[in-house]
Amino acid sequence: MKKTILTGLRVNSELTLGNYLGALLPMVRLANKHSKDYNINIFVPDLHSIISDIDGNLKSNTIRSIKYYLAAGLELNDNIHIYRQSRVPAHAELAWVLNCIATMGEMSRMTQYKEKSEGRDSANVGIFDYPVLMAADILLYDATFVPVGEDQFQHIELTRNLAQRFNNRFGETFTVPEETKKQVEFMGVNNGIRIRDLVNPEKKMSKSTAGDNCKIMLSDDPARAAKKIMSATTDSLERIDFNLETQPGISNLLQIEALVNDISLDETIREWSGETRYGELKKQVAASVTTLLANFQEKLAAISDDDVEKLLPKGEAYANTIADKKLTEVYEKIGLR
Ligand code: ATP
Ligand code: MG
Repeated sequence: MKKTILTGLRVNSELTLGNYLGALLPMVRLANKHSKDYNINIFVPDLHSIISDIDGNLKSNTIRSIKYYLAAGLELNDNIHIYRQSRVPAHAELAWVLNCIATMGEMSRMTQYKEKSEGRDSANVGIFDYPVLMAADILLYDATFVPVGEDQFQHIELTRNLAQRFNNRFGETFTVPEETKKQVEFMGVNNGIRIRDLVNPEKKMSKSTAGDNCKIMLSDDPARAAKKIMSATTDSLERIDFNLETQPGISNLLQIEALVNDISLDETIREWSGETRYGELKKQVAASVTTLLANFQEKLAAISDDDVEKLLPKGEAYANTIADKKLTEVYEKIGLR
């Protein structure tokens, strides 16, 4: 049986350079490389999107998100399945079943939940529970590889735990996704990717961060994005080195430079380490990001809503067939059928 690679990007707002380099581009590269031998599932997690406020219109954000993959270079073929989560009811149904085997303790330990809820009583339950829905998204399709940024690794581990627990309790049902170390190897990167906030480089770049200078959006005017790079926070050590503890800002720039140009981080580090002029590095990274955004935006503008909408019926018919079959098996195992 063909293995499955699966990913999804929330569409509560536009995407950042962090989403692009950490999730979108790795998926596109994996898809283009492996789509002959693997099923490639690219879904729009519209149900996940509503755990946060929606910036813009959910429907058009959904279409735009699929355009992003195409603009990033995704080559379509019959093994690539594109679908909207809310059009495949089995996701929400399996999430409920998994809710009943997940524990409050393990869910409360999720870092993303702690960060997003900030201990507020008013935080919605979706923020707490979305990792279970994410597990359902993955397990319904027996996905082996799930290319995501480092912040989602804990959720992949949770998915593995829930799959194993279900299999132990009710008999072999789900494929357990690969552990994150293997996922990273498969993605062809040294470590999980975590692009930093440009102003506060100890934090990751996030689309929900308020400050405009903290993040580069994929729709940013390239010249504006270049300015943000030029004013990124660095340090006073005056010597370039890759060290996320002592030089997170500089290390972030090195990471961006490597990923944008598809060269290894080691090679980029070799080229720059020991240099003293931070301005030179910033200029180089600003130029790389400018070219990336200009090319990306040009391609994006050439893709119509129709181009995207015509892909969905086939992708959604496929997804419903696979997902319903798995859900029926789950219902049989637990005695509901
Ligand atoms: P939010 O602030 O709304 O949580 P986000 O920028 O963290 O937004 P998500 O929708 O949570 O984005 O994540 C989408 C994908 O992008 C995930 O695979 C996640 O791992 C990846 N990702 C998010 N931020 C980064 C980052 N700074 N570096 C690398 N990958 C990232
Ligand atoms: Mg996030």
